[in-house]
Amino acid sequence: MSDCIIIGGGVIGMMSARTLAMSGASVRLIDQRACGKESSWAGGGIISPLYPWMYSDMVNELSMASQVVYEELCATLLEETGIDTEYVRSGLLMMDEYDRYEAIDWMAVHKVHAEKHPKGTLFTDVAQVRNPRLLRALKADILKRGVEIVEFTKVDELIVENNTVLGVKTENKAYYADNTVICGGAWSSELLEAKNEMYPVKGQMIVIRSKPDTLAHIVLDKGRYLIPRKDGRILIGSTTENVGFDRSLSDEVGLELLRFATERFPELQGASIEHHWSGFRPASKSGVVIKKDEKLDGLFINTGHLRNGLNMAPESAKRIAELIKKC
Ligand SMILES: Cc1cc2nc3c(=O)[nH]c(=O)nc-3n(C[C@H](O)[C@H](O)[C@H](O)COP(=O)(O)OP(=O)(O)OC[C@H]3O[C@@H](n4cnc5c(N)ncnc54)[C@H](O)[C@@H]3O)c2cc1C
Repeated sequence: MSDCIIIGGGVIGMMSARTLAMSGASVRLIDQRACGKESSWAGGGIISPLYPWMYSDMVNELSMASQVVYEELCATLLEETGIDTEYVRSGLLMMDEYDRYEAIDWMAVHKVHAEKHPKGTLFTDVAQVRNPRLLRALKADILKRGVEIVEFTKVDELIVENNTVLGVKTENKAYYADNTVICGGAWSSELLEAKNEMYPVKGQMIVIRSKPDTLAHIVLDKGRYLIPRKDGRILIGSTTENVGFDRSLSDEVGLELLRFATERFPELQGASIEHHWSGFRPASKSGVVIKKDEKLDGLFINTGHLRNGLNMAPESAKRIAELIKKC
């Protein structure tokens, strides 16, 4: 396979780089920061959409195909890099009353196991990964596979001649390749003609410390969730805010997330916020975008994963690699 430049080293860019490198492509990945420090780091790592029955078939197809390979992928990453992504099928307990039956129907159609739980409905197969570790593992893995990573280098523009993308320009250097893949997350449309096609949806999240196994499952209620990690930390998220690229944190939101947790689990009372952060989910007017550009040859786009980029990444990477191979 031919040369590829990947713009963006989040989960989508690094997973795409891995898949392309494994199929024999020579890959260079460029990020304006260090890899894996934006949305993919900020996320919760739930390997399923929340309320999947509310999402499009495309999202569910990408997610389900990814869920099938995630466990083995994480095992391979552990073997190859020594980094444990803490993939675990912790199950998801949905406490919402209103659509419990709709959920169970959906799960029956899709043959996903759900069972009654004293506090709601338990989706036993839902897994999670510790996403900052997944990103570290992916970076180590693609380096081993020969991907060249260029960090702290912003791609300013595409190099286009005769309706063909020949590569990218950065402040100091131009890079050339047969194929260029935009995996720039919420920033992706800066490089495209349609400047407003993709945009950020901010999410704030907090983490508290508790004893390991205080919560047995991920818990979901009214759009908010708790994700218990192996070491006792519990992530509590998250907001959805249309405020552009504003990273600011609101104390009020932090306390509201903490209250969400303690109201449902009084044993968490007394816990304090260890860390509070925000990230920019990549939204796109047309939903998930995995395609060859309609106008420019040599240009591919893999973005718009919004709330589900971590769980859709493996299949999204596979599909973009297949598209590149066909061209
Ligand atoms: C609070 C929160 C909770 C979430 N929880 C979950 C969850 O539980 N499960 C789930 O599946 N998803 C979750 N998500 C969504 C998920 O994190 C995103 O869908 C996913 O990370 C998107 O990955 P990405 O690689 O496209 O974007 P990013 O991780 O943002 O990566 C894009 C990269 O491109 C780089 N870049 C952009 N423009 C340029 C340029 N011009 N030149 C060079 N580099 C550039 C950026 O620096 C960045 O590193 C959550 C998101 C948030 C914010």
